[in-house]
Amino acid sequence: MSYTPMIQQYLAIKAQYQDAFLFFRLGDFYELFFDDAKKASKELEIALTSRNGGKDEYIPMCGVPYHAAKQYIKVLIDKGYKIAICEQMEDPKLAKGMVRREVIQMITPGTIMEDESLQPKKNNYLAALTAAKDGSFGLALSDLTTGEIRVTLISGWDGVIQELDANDVRELILASNFDPDKKEEMVERLNMTFSESDASQVPDPLQKIAVGIDQKKLIDPLGKLLSYLVNTQKRSLDHLQRAEVYQINAYMMIDQHSRRNLELTQTNREKKTYGSLLWLLDDVKTAMGGRRLKQWIEKPLLSKSKIEKRLDAVAALKERLLERETLRSLLGNVYDLERLVGRVSFGNVNPREVVQLKRSLEQIPEIKRILAELDETALAQYEQEMDPCTEVRELITDAIVDDPPFTTSDGGMIKPGYHETLDQYRDASKNGKRWIAELEAKERETTGIKSLKIGYNRVFGYYIEVSKPNLKLIPEGRYERRQTLSNAERFITPELKEKERVILEAEEKRVGLEFQIFGDVRLKIKEQSERLQKLARLVSSLDVLQSFASVSDQNGYVRPQFSNKRALEIKNSRHPVIERVMRRGTFVANDIRMDETCDLLMITGPNMGGKSTYMRQAALTAIMAQVGCFVPADHAELPIFDQIFTRIGAADDLVSGQSTFMVEMDEANYALSHATQNSLILLDEIGRGTSTYDGIAIAQAIVEFIHDHIAAKTFFSTHYHELTFLEEKLERLKNIHVGAMEENGTVVFLHKVLEGQADKSYGIHVAKLAGLPDALIERADTILQGLEGNAAADSVTDDGNQSDLRGEAAAAQEVEEEPQQLALFTEPKEQEQPPRSKQERRV
Ligand code: ADP
Repeated sequence: MSYTPMIQQYLAIKAQYQDAFLFFRLGDFYELFFDDAKKASKELEIALTSRNGGKDEYIPMCGVPYHAAKQYIKVLIDKGYKIAICEQMEDPKLAKGMVRREVIQMITPGTIMEDESLQPKKNNYLAALTAAKDGSFGLALSDLTTGEIRVTLISGWDGVIQELDANDVRELILASNFDPDKKEEMVERLNMTFSESDASQVPDPLQKIAVGIDQKKLIDPLGKLLSYLVNTQKRSLDHLQRAEVYQINAYMMIDQHSRRNLELTQTNREKKTYGSLLWLLDDVKTAMGGRRLKQWIEKPLLSKSKIEKRLDAVAALKERLLERETLRSLLGNVYDLERLVGRVSFGNVNPREVVQLKRSLEQIPEIKRILAELDETALAQYEQEMDPCTEVRELITDAIVDDPPFTTSDGGMIKPGYHETLDQYRDASKNGKRWIAELEAKERETTGIKSLKIGYNRVFGYYIEVSKPNLKLIPEGRYERRQTLSNAERFITPELKEKERVILEAEEKRVGLEFQIFGDVRLKIKEQSERLQKLARLVSSLDVLQSFASVSDQNGYVRPQFSNKRALEIKNSRHPVIERVMRRGTFVANDIRMDETCDLLMITGPNMGGKSTYMRQAALTAIMAQVGCFVPADHAELPIFDQIFTRIGAADDLVSGQSTFMVEMDEANYALSHATQNSLILLDEIGRGTSTYDGIAIAQAIVEFIHDHIAAKTFFSTHYHELTFLEEKLERLKNIHVGAMEENGTVVFLHKVLEGQADKSYGIHVAKLAGLPDALIERADTILQGLEGNAAADSVTDDGNQSDLRGEAAAAQEVEEEPQQLALFTEPKEQEQPPRSKQERRV
């Protein structure tokens, strides 16, 4: 026995789409069969049934209604699956034999166009990666919703991971013979869907996208990407923009761990935007501004002139509150131009969205006027380049009514006066309707039935309705009975039916013609895609600049200055995010100073004292400065950093399966092998993951290595006080510490960064603060005293100094000398903080 013809057809199609769910159209349902059905019924939580397919055993099956498919597709896409949509290509009633079916589109995580599955403020990137023989990699990225395409060359594998991570790539296309080990690593480290393509040429209809790119290493990934799009989307891709070649080394490099650690776009623990730098800087008014902001934060600039240009614009907007507010309210009326243009080209734009496009364009002349008024070179360029696309705006104004329906199927979207024939149809149906109203009046008069009325329904068309008591009044022979209701009868007359035919024909023609006119309007807009996309780019960047200005104004940030001196001089620096979420005025500002003669700051002090906050704020300040935003300080002078490396304890370490210490060493190694003297390195408590002597030894060796061989600006926090003696040994290292004092037997954190080293560890006091039993605390005290007795005798350094003793005396003196500061900061705020995991902080 063999399968039925339909199942055979299914199997033949399915064979070509092995890695996707095949949604097989059967009447009003999309059906899934065999393993697809088993898997989908679980993922979608729908019933698994079965059907006879011609053989003995039944075939597993499940289905979703055609009209509700979107929501099921969204669920599968969110889980990273791909879907092939297979439609009936002819009317089953007219088909001879099997209905012809074809896959009309593949929907994948990297190509989804439906709003429900997209985040407004996030790009949806599809990428293709190819390996060249010389060990370098070609990467092509595209966002189908906006039409953006970029390509770049990456020299090493680490850079590839970084770039995929920084762009949050959702789907990656690889050649079938791509190195399996590398693929495995990506599966582990990045959350993406994988696809295959062995194409290496740009498909002919899309040649214009690759104009100017001739390097094989770039054409290869671009070819894969575009072929994949052509093969999966099977429709016009005219809105894809010309590919932009970019250099990854034109931007500050921040590796995957450091991005996470510094919480640039989401927080480490909860993976939420709230509490990240992106959240802090987000005061944009448009969705596309939101996407641009994320792109900028992920790619801080290295070119001083480009940074200064952004800063000039921010400065001008920050100064002029009134103009900024007007600009903000204008931007608030701009819809997602970029994605609207994408939908226009893709063919799924609806009439409402076309009106949104018009509303957006209406804002442009006014935006230009404000920019001209601001009279600032950097903004003047925006003003000049912004093309209001007047023809598009006028076209929509003339053609589409102001408040059209969502769908194109029932007409009602084209304005009167736009198209002559359409107006005629409209008149015909209008006249017909007037004729009917007149007929109703006439019939009432001749019959004398006041309640007689003419109605319409889809089944019977127009009819005359007469209530039962009046039936005796109807004229003999003229009315033809059609329908009997409980209290009335419905009739027709030949002339009513004739008029009905005219009206319905006109209606049908009107709806058809409206649909066609709408399509023409859409095509005319599509021809202007490039102009509209350019405008969208300018508007989105302007939106980010005004967001920087607003946030800087609200939080009292200053314009950073860049020097070539390799010196950091930040006065009253603050951690921008902690400051924002804390009660106003409670964050303690600190100076950050590393002049040309100093490369390393060794930070000691108690846990919870503010060491890691201090280093993080230095890194965030550098990043904010290099994306072109003002910074949280009273004065800031910085070098331009080429890379930032961090080793900061993170909860992630615990789940990754590697030991904390191994992760520490990996990250330290990464920093040491990639950093240059223009980099910034943050090492938080390195060496804490192993035994004390081991830890101290490794930490010291790392510090020495950075000092002697890299000379990057480095912040190094440690609770190993034994290390502070290094200040005497290493010329460009300085000790600083976070202040703390004991009061009534508890520790009070000052959060003030002071020169020199800290006196002693306050671990036991922190334990007490956390509420551990008194007896336990006492016991710990005793043990500590014992240990300290030994350590003081043991920890003799290279130079024969007893490091602990020297430091303790000096710093104790310092605390005593600052009584006024103590009074200000004696509030034990730390108790409000959520408890930290044991593994992250070793007290
Ligand atoms: P450490 O790294 O020394 O253990 P953290 O930097 O993690 O300490 O800081 C501990 C807590 O102290 C932070 O959660 C923060 O809320 C608070 N804190 C840190 N620095 C400051 C500051 N300058 N002003 C006010 N609070 C601060």
